[in-house]
Amino acid sequence: MGLVMIRCPQTGREIPTGFEMEISDFQRAPVFFSRVQCPVCACEHEWFAQDAWVCDSPDTTPSAWDAFVDRL
Ligand SMILES: [Zn+2]
Repeated sequence: MGLVMIRCPQTGREIPTGFEMEISDFQRAPVFFSRVQCPVCACEHEWFAQDAWVCDSPDTTPSAWDAFVDRL
């Protein structure tokens, strides 16, 4: 599993969105957008799947993404 990351539009820093999923699943995912509370600038950013990427991480759990997909 990997963390879905975006780039903060205010600072240019990479931030985690809180979603976790396999890269292959992410590439097959439908276009969607979400919001994230930015840990860098403390603003809420809207982001689209096309702006995001998956950062592989060994110690993550799938729960957040599974819950999100269930609501689609
Ligand atoms: Zn930010």
